[in-house]
Formats: sequence, C-alpha cells, structure tokens
Amino acid sequence: MKDFKIQNCPICKSNIKNEAIIKPDIDPLKSLKIRKKLWTIFQSERIFFPYHRCQCGLLTNKIFLKEKMLKHLYSDMSDNVHSGEDVQNDIKTKNGYLNQLKDILYKKKDLKFLEIGADNGNFLSLVKKTNPKVKSIVVEPNKRMHKKLKSLTNKVYNDIKKVPKNEKFDLIVAIHVFDHVPNFLRFLKILKNKLKKGGFIYGVVHDEKSVMAKILGNRWPAYRLQHPHLFNPTTINKAFLKLKCNKKFIKKTVNFFNFGFLLKHLIMAVFKKKINFPNFFTIGLKLGNFSFLYYK
Ligand SMILES: [Zn+2]
Repeated sequence: MKDFKIQNCPICKSNIKNEAIIKPDIDPLKSLKIRKKLWTIFQSERIFFPYHRCQCGLLTNKIFLKEKMLKHLYSDMSDNVHSGEDVQNDIKTKNGYLNQLKDILYKKKDLKFLEIGADNGNFLSLVKKTNPKVKSIVVEPNKRMHKKLKSLTNKVYNDIKKVPKNEKFDLIVAIHVFDHVPNFLRFLKILKNKLKKGGFIYGVVHDEKSVMAKILGNRWPAYRLQHPHLFNPTTINKAFLKLKCNKKFIKKTVNFFNFGFLLKHLIMAVFKKKINFPNFFTIGLKLGNFSFLYYK
C-alpha cells in the first residue's frame, strides 16, 4: 500500500461508502506494481482504480496514488497529444476552444493569461496569434515540454505553487487538467486566488455521462489510472458553486480525429486488438468532452 492512499470525495469530503460501479479488468492493487512504464503505455487491458458514485454525484476513485508518486510519474512523459502523430487535428480541436473564448481574448489588449498543463504549447500559440500583447505564464509539470514552452513565454513553472504570489490573472485555462488532479477542489481554490475580480476560469474535461461512456462501458478510454475522478456538467457545477464562482457556460466540445486513428482506438477499446489504419480523412465529433467557463 505504500504508493496508494484512501481518499475522501474531493467535492463533498465524505467517505466513499457506495460499491464501485465501474470496474477494471485488472485491479492495480491486486496484481501490479505501478511503474513508470505502465503509466505511459496505452493498455489494451483495462487497468485503473475502480470508480464509485459518491452520494454527491461525483464519479471518483476511493483508492488513488499518493502525491509523491504522482509527481514522479508526471515529471517525465512523452507528448500527451497522440504522441505527436496528429498535431494538425490537435490544433483544430484547440481552435474550437479558442473560439469559445474569443470575446475575452479580444476585449483586453494586455490580458494576463495563465495556462495550467500547457503541454505542447499549441493552445498558447493560438492565444498569442489572437492577442499578440497577451502576458502569459504557464505551468507544466512535464519538464520535457519546457524547452518548447520557453520559446513561447519566458515564464514557465512546473508547479502552480511556484507562480509568484502577486501575479493575478484575467483568464486561467486548464485543458484536460481537472480530471488529473486529486483533491481538485483545493486546487480550484488556489486558481481562484490567482484570479482578478471578474477574472475567468476555463476548462475542458471528459464527460462521464456522455453517450460514448455509456456505449463503451469499462472500455471507455477516460477510465484510466491518471484520472482519480471524472465529471459531468452537474458535478463540475457543484464544485464551482462550492467555490462561489459564477457560471458563464457549459458546452460540449468538438474533437478532430483522423478517421483511421479513431478506428484504431475504437477497435482497441472494444476488441482489445491493435490494428493500424491509414489516416483516411479528418472528422470532428462531439465525443464526450465538455468545456466550462466560470468567473470570480
Ligand atoms: Zn461527494
């Protein structure tokens, strides 16, 4: 048990009493030691911590990794985005996010912008194209990405705690971050403290109530070791209500894929077989993610 701990619900803080409703093929507690390698490979077997439905509605793990172990695992990963094989589609997808934020990005010339989990920097590049005078700071735990990010902004940190205390922002963006952060309400509070009055927080997360999640059952790819909990629009709203932030919107987002890539992953999810297809063509699908915008 030395790498694991029992956690309370990150939203309502109660003990998780209900039985698990989403179960893995292989329980990491029973049969595996979590190693770096295991963390980064795409598994055809479904290995994740079981998910429970808390009384408040959140879908969450009861047992998860300790923070020290997590930090170690996140500090050295390859590019999160399809291992670099599909940069164009990643940019198209992120352009969709950018469009949802255009009003805010245009409104203020010297906008102060913080991106958490900036990853390969594709979103930050788009922001800079939209508003060249934006003042940006990024936080990215994966140090392998720092060199690339430093070409876009000279303020790159590996931890939110290292961002100078006096820095306050008009807009904070966290794309596919909140699914990864244990005790994320505490994390949200830190972010709220970094907002100016009237400042915005924008995020994108997986939707555990999506059609895709229902169809694929425990083969839904978002059930994974890296996600200690998963949201739906109601539970994310509960978290922000606790924080006393105001909702601007919650929207479904479109992801762009090469059809071949999608087919490969669908077949891997359903039949546990790895087949490589040619790229065919690009399609945009509302596949089970949603975005949200709240303000202080
Ligand atoms: Zn709860």
